[in-house]
Amino acid sequence: MELRGKDVLVVGVKRSGMGAIELLQKRGARVRAMDAQVPTAAEQARFAALGVPVVSQEAENVGSPDLIVLSPAVPFDLPLFAVARERGVPVIGEVELAAYFLRGPVIGITGSNGKTTTTALVGHLLRECGVPCQVGGNIGTAVSSLIESSREEQWNVLELSSFQLETIDRFRAHIAACLNVTPDHLDRHGSLDNYARAKGRLFETQIAGDFAVLNYDDAICRGYARHTRAEVFWCQGFSEPGAGSDLAGLQTRAVRDGDDYVVDGQKIWTSEGHQADWMILLARTDTEAPKHRGISYFLVDMRTPGIQVRPLVNLMNGHAFNEVFFENVRVPKSNLVGAENGGWYVATTTLDFERSGITRVMLWLRMLEEVVAFVREAASRGERWAKAEHVRNKLADLRIEFDIARLLARRVAWLQSKGIVPNYEASMAKLYGTEVNQRFCAAAINFLGMAGQLDPGSPWAGLQGRIERAYMAAVSYTIAGGTSEIQRNVIATRGLGLPR
Ligand SMILES: Cc1cc2nc3c(=O)[nH]c(=O)nc-3n(C[C@H](O)[C@H](O)[C@H](O)COP(=O)(O)OP(=O)(O)OC[C@H]3O[C@@H](n4cnc5c(N)ncnc54)[C@H](O)[C@@H]3O)c2cc1C
Repeated sequence: MELRGKDVLVVGVKRSGMGAIELLQKRGARVRAMDAQVPTAAEQARFAALGVPVVSQEAENVGSPDLIVLSPAVPFDLPLFAVARERGVPVIGEVELAAYFLRGPVIGITGSNGKTTTTALVGHLLRECGVPCQVGGNIGTAVSSLIESSREEQWNVLELSSFQLETIDRFRAHIAACLNVTPDHLDRHGSLDNYARAKGRLFETQIAGDFAVLNYDDAICRGYARHTRAEVFWCQGFSEPGAGSDLAGLQTRAVRDGDDYVVDGQKIWTSEGHQADWMILLARTDTEAPKHRGISYFLVDMRTPGIQVRPLVNLMNGHAFNEVFFENVRVPKSNLVGAENGGWYVATTTLDFERSGITRVMLWLRMLEEVVAFVREAASRGERWAKAEHVRNKLADLRIEFDIARLLARRVAWLQSKGIVPNYEASMAKLYGTEVNQRFCAAAINFLGMAGQLDPGSPWAGLQGRIERAYMAAVSYTIAGGTSEIQRNVIATRGLGLPR
């Protein structure tokens, strides 16, 4: 946006307005300011120093600017700006103005409650992980005020209100999150629908490749999924009844027919297959070739006719994975990833990424801290077991082991950040992390006693049943994504160079 020499009217001159004024001036615009309230003496002195005339908020003071920038507090539909709009003068919000100049990707966080805390937390987590970022928006620093310090490789973590979002067009968050939507600001928006629609703009400006993080438990948040162009939910169609560890033995066929492949066969253990929009699918395209060399990797729309998803109930009595059946399913040839019959190499790379598991380790570490707090509390009540040497030693050992698991996972993340595809390193992280977790869960469920075995929901459940859930889930982590034995094989052959 070229601003040099342009006459710009900024309406609303508190924090956001001031940020916009400074940005506009730096870009060479001639700025006038307008506010419904008479500026304080301090504000007047500041405007005088900037050389910005301030006028009262009346139609005759709007004049004929080239652009009008509104602070979030100023409603867009004020009749005051109708004439300017009719004359074709663009009227945009402060966040929209900033979007023209902000460098680096945006994490946009909205919601009726908790968005300031979440924004601060995300910024804190990124900094702790050594990821360059700056935090602003509704939380305190106007987005316009972040422009000068923004850099391409730096994340902008922004708290965004409905006022800031209702008219965005260019502003786009690479990662957009909505925490919840409950009735708020109805005096300004008129109805809950309008308020929800204003927040929903955050997802409407996203593009494919972006991420929408939505609170599934909140119906309004869930509804945003229909409007976002951010990436969709994927599942992985690798395993088959006769091909798990020996994945290359898979039998699902894909036969070329004109511009399509026709897929027939069955997948199993497909996590979230019942919710997914798309699947990454491995299918055999050459039955004569050696088994690793006859497999292709496809992207399959789960709504394609001929796909049937049947639930499988797991040992936690939950529905997470499925069987998926394919009968005459037509997949366009443009959905082939890599070369025909080259799918094995794409699949092993996918698995190398899946196996790093830093998110899992961090979750487990947090649980360990909860168990430590539980034991400390029991000790302070005078419970003798909680003071026993073997309990202390076990907790100390687990803490050390989790730290190692975290370092192994970070090593994988570091390799990825350098553009290197992790290999046996990912297997090390997966093997070690998932096995430490089993040791941890076995110890923790003992520390919690009988109450540790109760489901969440029981009033007597230890730590709200979280350890019981973790204990049951721990079994599957050493199987999913390749069993521990397979990880050991990978480390032995690819890491240590031992013969197959
Ligand atoms: C919770 C969960 C989620 C899953 N999600 C998905 C998913 O989304 N998509 C998907 O495609 N799959 C998924 N799977 C399947 C998973 O990838 C397979 O279960 C796994 O690869 C093991 O295959 P299998 O079950 O056929 O066991 P098998 O391969 O039959 O193995 C049986 C036993 O033999 C051992 N074994 C086999 N071969 C060797 C060998 N060469 N050397 C030493 N030991 C060996 C194994 O370690 C194991 O103990 C999931 C599994 C679980 C538990």
